[in-house]
Amino acid sequence: MALNSHRYQAQLKRETFTILKRGILWASYVSFAMLFVVLTNAYYFDKHYYDAGALFIKLVPLAAVLGLGLYTVKSKGLFKITVIQTYVYLGLLVSSWSLVLVSLAFLSEQNMPGVESLADILVLVFALALFPHRNIMVSVILPFLAFSAIYHSLQFSEAIVYPLTKFLCFLMIILSGQKIIAGWFFKAVVRNIEKKKLLSQFKRLALIDGLTNISNRRHFDDVLLQESKAAARNQQPLSIILLDIDYFKPLNDTLGHQVGDEYLVKVAELLNQALERPRDLVARYGGEEFVMVLPNTDLHGANCVAAKVQQMLHEEKLSHPSSAVAKYITVSQGIALWQAPEVPSSLLERADSMLYQAKANGRDGFVSQTEPVSNKQVV
Ligand code: GH3
Ligand code: MG
Ligand code: MG
Repeated sequence: MALNSHRYQAQLKRETFTILKRGILWASYVSFAMLFVVLTNAYYFDKHYYDAGALFIKLVPLAAVLGLGLYTVKSKGLFKITVIQTYVYLGLLVSSWSLVLVSLAFLSEQNMPGVESLADILVLVFALALFPHRNIMVSVILPFLAFSAIYHSLQFSEAIVYPLTKFLCFLMIILSGQKIIAGWFFKAVVRNIEKKKLLSQFKRLALIDGLTNISNRRHFDDVLLQESKAAARNQQPLSIILLDIDYFKPLNDTLGHQVGDEYLVKVAELLNQALERPRDLVARYGGEEFVMVLPNTDLHGANCVAAKVQQMLHEEKLSHPSSAVAKYITVSQGIALWQAPEVPSSLLERADSMLYQAKANGRDGFVSQTEPVSNKQVV
């Protein structure tokens, strides 16, 4: 898949958003811990710097935002949270932290190294939390970085070089680090998309016949087992039709295997068209034999499907120069009805013996389990 393909871009966007939401959730937990540290510091150690009660009021919005965010995640689940809700929450979280920082800075006349450290820690927390989205990350951390630098230079106006150097170093380290981590992340997403693609290809290869593009024997076996269980559970009829192309060996001998293969593809397409219900299945049983699974269909219904297949093949007139029954491709069909609690192999055996009878009856016809239907039509 091309890296700029629509599917890739959509998946990348989805995964980026999921990681972003997880990051913001993590930042919320860290914020809770930091809030606790700020409160403890304010109460026990910084009391002489400012009025702890006044600070406490300024912490309320942050506590409320965190409570709201974590409650929403718990009640709705992270996956249900929309893009808008996420960005509104991020905006509220960043604003309430800014309020705390500004309050701490203005509540005291004296220098408080803790305020600068708090801003630095917030820079690191949001840089890590928002790394998948460079623009959002930069727009969140820049104000905190600037605050840290300005606060320091206001306190020590004689040493302007230090905050400026710190500001630039932090910014460079974070931006280059983000580039490396985002690179790994995008690679992981690409690998994930390719893995999913390969898995669906393997699944397809395991269940689809390579030549005719319809289900293969393995898929048929699975479906028949499931449908027989469903039939038992719901007490509904289940029929199968085993179909075998008449005189296919002579066709290969006269027209060649290549043409024989093309005919197999055409017959498979036609059989697919003959089935109308979504749960009906046609599979290549092997060689030039096909099988149909008809859930919720009794013998009468299955006979109708067999007659329809016969009719469609007559109308299609796929030329067959070496057939003894017609000038075009015909099939013989054996029809069997599942009888609880038989296993699929016994149902198949019955369909096979009906098919044998249809061949014995002269081909181009179908035989049903209860009453042999000699529906041979000469056109
Ligand atoms: P009938 O069923 O009417 O008794 O005669 P038939 O000639 O069709 O009988 P049989 O089942 O013995 O022959 C099946 C032939 O189908 C054998 C082989 O040549 C051909 N066949 C099986 N698989 C393929 C395939 O994948 N491609 C092609 N071209 N031929 C195949
Ligand atoms: Mg055969
Ligand atoms: Mg045959």
